[in-house]
Order: sequence, then structure tokens, then C-alpha cells
Amino acid sequence: VVVGVRMWRHSSEHMKWNGTGSTAHFQEIVLERCYNYTQLVQPELRDRDCQKIREAFRNAFISKDPCSATEEDYHPLMKLVNPTVPCDKTVFWSKTKELAHQYTKVQRELFTLEDTLLGYIADDLNWCGDTGSYEMNYQSCPHWKKDCSNNFVSVFWDLVSKRFAENACGVVQVVLNGSISNAFDRKSTFGRVEVHNLNPMKVHTLQAWVIHDLGKFPSDSCSGSSINDLKWIIMQRNIKFTCQDNYRDCGPFADGRQPSPRESMTSC
Ligand code: NAD
Repeated sequence: VVVGVRMWRHSSEHMKWNGTGSTAHFQEIVLERCYNYTQLVQPELRDRDCQKIREAFRNAFISKDPCSATEEDYHPLMKLVNPTVPCDKTVFWSKTKELAHQYTKVQRELFTLEDTLLGYIADDLNWCGDTGSYEMNYQSCPHWKKDCSNNFVSVFWDLVSKRFAENACGVVQVVLNGSISNAFDRKSTFGRVEVHNLNPMKVHTLQAWVIHDLGKFPSDSCSGSSINDLKWIIMQRNIKFTCQDNYRDCGPFADGRQPSPRESMTSC
């Protein structure tokens, strides 16, 4: 009975938010992913101090109100890791995470945010702390819609997405989902953060790929109004815009055209 009462008290104390709690073994996962990335995936980064990175990540949010995150909280972590993607190799995505990641897995010289160190470390993880505690909250964390938008996970992704976009150069690509009604969504991280942080002095073209799920009826395409919206925003920013639907008649690329994300992964 005593144990039962304790358990109840324990969880009721912590279930204050509507989102999933911190990922179990968060610290260990961060450290392991950091070593894996810096030693094996991108050995040019082998001198990065993963213990320091883990500590700076933890210090960004521990003992703080989980609904009062700011960019400044992450500055020490950002100082330890600067994004380094070569020109013409940046790939953005929106509602196409899996496809975009398959694409960069095949075209190994291309990078999504999750192919860079910080994106790789944090992908699919959840984290938050609490004021007056040195512990992470594994029971619940603020939900970005139901609790607060300035939670530590959302602020982290907005910040690393902004830096990723600011550092892009040359031709950049975005993989968009043609099986939903708005392939481009101004409210998505891509539409709200990344598009507006491309530097027109460095980025000359945005190449959009609108990809439909195989066997599903296309709901949006390069000629639809959401892509037109994107085209308008990009051209206003003095960046050239091109768009390709994932159609291909199965012949060789006589014109030297780049294969689309889908074409890179499937033969016709
Ligand atoms: P999307 O709508 O497919 O969202 C991607 C993921 O982020 C989803 O799991 C979504 O639930 C979550 N998300 C979106 N906005 C959020 C917010 N404010 N707070 C918490 N979670 C949020 O696509 P998107 O919003 O355009 O984001 C994708 C683009 O932004 C990519 O180009 C990538 O560089 C970057 N990004 C990556 C992640 C990630 O989880 N790896 C998250 C956000 C942004």
C-alpha cells in the first residue's frame, strides 16, 4: 500500500504537461550519437569534445522553466558545433522526413539537418527539465501546441533549422509532399524559418521536388497554389526557383538532368 501511494504521488507531481516526457537514457543517447557521428560518420569532426557537447546540451535546459526557453540558452552548445555543409549539398524537407533521409542516404554527399552533428544527435529525442530540480522530467514535457511554443525542443529545432539555412550556399533543394493538399505550408519550420533564413548572397537557386506517394493520387504539384506561394516568397528574396514533380518517363537522362529523390532510390 505504501509503495502504491508513493508511486501515485510521484507521477502526479510530474504529469503536469501534455507532451511526452524526456526520452529515457537521454544523456547516454546524446553521448553515443555524438561519438558515432564524430568518429565514424564524419571523421573530419573527430576532435569535437562529445562530453562537452553533452554537458552544454544538458545545461541549456536543466533546472529551468520548460516553457521559457530562449535561443540564448543554446548558445554555449551552438558554439561547440558549427554547421559545415558544402555548397550545393543542402536538402530541406517538410512532411517528407523519411523520403528525404532515404534520399541523402543514397546520395551520400547530400545533407539534411539530421545528417549534421546537432540534428543527428537530437533527432526523435525529447527533453525537458524543471525549475528547482537537477533531474530531467521523464514523465511529461510541454506539448508545443497544447502547452507552450517556447519549450526547449521547439526552440532548439527553430534555432538549428535557422543556422542550417543561414549556412546553405549554391543550389539548395527541398523535398515536399505532393500527397497532401498543401505541399508548401507557411507555418511549417521550412516555411516559417528556413525559407526566410536563406542568404540570397550565397544561395542562388532553390530546387523544389514535389513527390507523391507511389500509388496515391497526387493532391498538390508544382503548378498548385501552395508551390506558387513558395515561388513568390523565394523570388521576392532574389533567389531563383525551380520545381519538379516526381514524374519521369523511364529513359536515360539524355539532358544531364539531376535525378529526383524518388529516382535516386527506385529504378523505373
Ligand atoms: P514537418 O511539418 O514534417 O515537421 C517535422 C517534425 O517537427 C514533425 O515531427 C513535427 O511534429 C515537428 N515540429 C514541427 N514544428 C514544431 C514545433 N514548433 N515544435 C515541435 N515540433 C515541431 O516539417 P517542418 O515543420 O517543415 O520541419 C522540417 C524542416 O525543418 C526540415 O527541413 C529540417 O531541416 C527542420 N526540422 C527538423 C526537425 C526534426 O525533428 N528532425 C524538427 C523541426 C524542424
